[in-house]
Amino acid sequence: MIKVTNYRQYYEELQTVVEKEHILLDEYLKNHTYTKLGGKADLFVTPSTYEEVQRVVKFANKHNIPLTLLGNGSNLIVRDGGIRGIVLNLERLNDIYVEGDMLIAQSGAAIIESSREALKAKLTGLEFACGIPGTVGGALFMNAGAYGGEIKDVLDYAIVVNREGELLKLAASELDLSYRTSNIPANGYIVLEAGFVLKTGNETEIKAMMDDLTNRRETKQPLEYPSCGSVFKRPPGYYAGKLIQDSGLQGTRVGGAEVSTKHAGFIVNIDNATASDYIALIKNVQETVKEKFNVELEREVKIIGEQD
Ligand SMILES: Cc1cc2nc3c(=O)[nH]c(=O)nc-3n(C[C@H](O)[C@H](O)[C@H](O)COP(=O)(O)OP(=O)(O)OC[C@H]3O[C@@H](n4cnc5c(N)ncnc54)[C@H](O)[C@@H]3O)c2cc1C
Repeated sequence: MIKVTNYRQYYEELQTVVEKEHILLDEYLKNHTYTKLGGKADLFVTPSTYEEVQRVVKFANKHNIPLTLLGNGSNLIVRDGGIRGIVLNLERLNDIYVEGDMLIAQSGAAIIESSREALKAKLTGLEFACGIPGTVGGALFMNAGAYGGEIKDVLDYAIVVNREGELLKLAASELDLSYRTSNIPANGYIVLEAGFVLKTGNETEIKAMMDDLTNRRETKQPLEYPSCGSVFKRPPGYYAGKLIQDSGLQGTRVGGAEVSTKHAGFIVNIDNATASDYIALIKNVQETVKEKFNVELEREVKIIGEQD
């Protein structure tokens, strides 16, 4: 017989390590994901200090409670059955400030907001990030990048909490950042803070670059709908979007999910889609492209959580 743990039983005791108002029971994750998808988290915890994060990690270790980190949910599909145990979200850790040529951002801050603060301080280097709808933590996790720039180019250090709940300050080189990857998942690090080393620049030029990149995104990407960005990796020798377009799949729907008519590489949540709609549509696209072009489309987006 499989033993099912009811993690809600830890609600009271969890209040000894994190403020009560920072813990929600049975919270719908679709309220916290950019995709607007996802069932309930048993315990949704939003610490407001680094110490609280450390204490939550130690608490989860002590009771053997699964701990899942959620940023802005812009690179994830959370299934409709939600996530068991604790979902940790660092939205309350969102300070951004500048010290000389260094921009320091807490991990729950938006990377878009960080690039705007760099502009205000006349610092150049973070322009590439001005349209990436994730958090600083999510951006480090996958070495986010766009238009020739990536986190690796500008990251100086990160403050993380490890699996034991210890605080570590790591040089960027210790995170093994490479194309859309880092060693953050393998080490189970929770990113709390990032220091970006930038250069003094010309405000007008920085702004012009950000406006140009924003314009390029707005004309090509369906930003008017929730989505998880490019769903598939680029298959060697092809473009995923072109294969999907040439398969005649644009506009194909499952429930409230649709293959974008503006950019075939995106699946958009046009009408209260469920994660099951999304996942069924992804499968449909993969099967159709395989049948027509004999190319396997590999998912870029992660799928987590329980089946409904
Ligand atoms: C319209 C659109 C455009 C996009 N354009 C780009 C683009 O140009 N370039 C690009 O690289 N990406 C792009 N993305 C994808 C996405 O925005 C990035 O991958 C982003 O970095 C994800 O951050 P997040 O906070 O949303 O992470 P989430 O989706 O919430 O999480 C992603 C992973 O990061 C982990 N994580 C989150 N926070 C932390 C933390 N503090 N510590 C440790 N792990 C953490 C999560 O556990 C999860 O495994 C786009 C997405 C959309 C919807």
